[in-house]
Amino acid sequence: MNLSITNLSKTYSNGVQALDNISLEIPTGLFGLLGPNGAGKSTLMRTIATLQEPDQGSIYLGDIDVINEKHELRKTLGYLPQEFGVYPKSSAQDLLNHLAILKGVINSKERKAMVESLLHRVNLYEFRKNRVNDFSGGMKQRFGIAQALIGNPNLIIVDEPTAGLDPGERNRFYNLLSEISENVIVILSTHIVQDVSQLCANMAIINRGKLLYAGRPTTAMDALTGRVWEKLIDKSELTMIENEHHIISSRLVSGNPLIHIIHDENPGNGFKQVPADLEDVFFTKVMGLETAA
Ligand code: ADP
Repeated sequence: MNLSITNLSKTYSNGVQALDNISLEIPTGLFGLLGPNGAGKSTLMRTIATLQEPDQGSIYLGDIDVINEKHELRKTLGYLPQEFGVYPKSSAQDLLNHLAILKGVINSKERKAMVESLLHRVNLYEFRKNRVNDFSGGMKQRFGIAQALIGNPNLIIVDEPTAGLDPGERNRFYNLLSEISENVIVILSTHIVQDVSQLCANMAIINRGKLLYAGRPTTAMDALTGRVWEKLIDKSELTMIENEHHIISSRLVSGNPLIHIIHDENPGNGFKQVPADLEDVFFTKVMGLETAA
């Protein structure tokens, strides 16, 4: 089953066009929606999750017309929003049980078994009697996945889930996401390139409401082969190089900027050709440097 998005547009009443004619085909598995802050990711996620209306366009999950059959979609949707809000002072077990009732799992025996299995699945069983409010960031996100999995959804949406997690928690969360994405569509919206490069077989990049790329991360990286050059420079050289080249990225290594530039031929001057990584792809697309020399 695919999620098919066609010509989706949305302009808010303040005039901001958050989605500009987006068309996307999202297959089963983990799909990364990558974009800087303000790109339109949450608008797209909330629209797919039936929480807001687009101005135009259509979304289908298999046969379900998402915009006109909201109830049908909601039966098979698991959603982990960016802000889960304040958790009541309930234990993980009680809260999951309550959310399962809200999702229509009325048989209490079935519900008990489901809650236990979900707690095991996200590795929170031993903390089931603890308050979710007191959980660490990573545990809260794993709890968020447990609640999103209630009712075996075919579509799971997670909006910026790794922001604020430490590296260990982030890895545990990555493992969980890859496990659950085997037979369902999981859309992971993020501004963190590493989330997508480590996890997603398919991806899209959006910025200012526009789709800049859709496809495999590897295909996008291959397309930049031979054009990315790297050099560790002195801070004092930065302005000069900025004037001469299109800098894709700059990060400090032991206090000195390690820069990547895009250039069709060898720029000389100590630059070394490197394989393109997803960060090069991301910044090249977002800064519109594709056609730069
Ligand atoms: P992202 O999730 O990628 O950070 P958003 O979808 O939240 O992006 O926002 C896209 C753009 O739409 C931003 O410029 C944001 O300020 C604007 N925006 C988002 N929600 C609203 C709203 N309810 N009213 C007006 N503008 C909004």
